[in-house]
Amino acid sequence: MSLLADLDRGLLDLVFPRDCMVTQLPMDDQARLYLSDFGARQLERIYDPRCHTCGHPFDGILEGDRTCPHCLDLNPAFGRAVCAFRARGHIRQIIHEIKYTRCPFLVADLVAVAVEDPLFRRHLAGAQLIPVPLHADKLSERSYNQAERIAQSLCTHMPGCSWSHALIKVKPTPSQTLLNRTERRRNVANAFEANPTTHISPNVRYVIIDDVLTTGATLHACAQALRLAGALHIDAATLAHG
Ligand SMILES: [Zn+2]
Repeated sequence: MSLLADLDRGLLDLVFPRDCMVTQLPMDDQARLYLSDFGARQLERIYDPRCHTCGHPFDGILEGDRTCPHCLDLNPAFGRAVCAFRARGHIRQIIHEIKYTRCPFLVADLVAVAVEDPLFRRHLAGAQLIPVPLHADKLSERSYNQAERIAQSLCTHMPGCSWSHALIKVKPTPSQTLLNRTERRRNVANAFEANPTTHISPNVRYVIIDDVLTTGATLHACAQALRLAGALHIDAATLAHG
């Protein structure tokens, strides 16, 4: 079904020339389809220093504790999350388009720029990537899972990585958008389970993949489900933090 969204874009390309998703100017870049070099430089990357747990950037020089106050409260079931961009401005808009306006094809160019960061690459190296799953009803409505698209795209850039449907979402949950930190955690509690058709190994390092990390509640719930199934090494990575 996800092919439909790509076919839509392919048909549109015949009528309208492709524009950069940031500058809205016609593309003249050969390496990417929807993101020009100038547009890529407008995206707000996350650099060190950052929270060692959730990847949120710290302002200025960091000394001592490398975990932000939010993560001390969260005490997440995953080890470390690394996020490529701040979920503001262009990135917020692009991720909205990916999720809600049938534009999953924009993932590939964002991922291509994200993996230019050596720390982001090191974080993923050799891992099995586990996209945060959608509930079957949501998947049927959207026709694709953006987190799965991100994981697939990351694997094309990271030869040592693989991805799998190791998690399933067994409980539909209302949107997290308007919920506070505590409500988000309650909302996704027990929403995920390990996929009974996938073998979870204590020797494999798993990296849970999502589009945005906000409070970390979803990634925490996913990591709990993987741990319950026997995983010992669990980290996370998202395109954006916001
Ligand atoms: Zn943090």
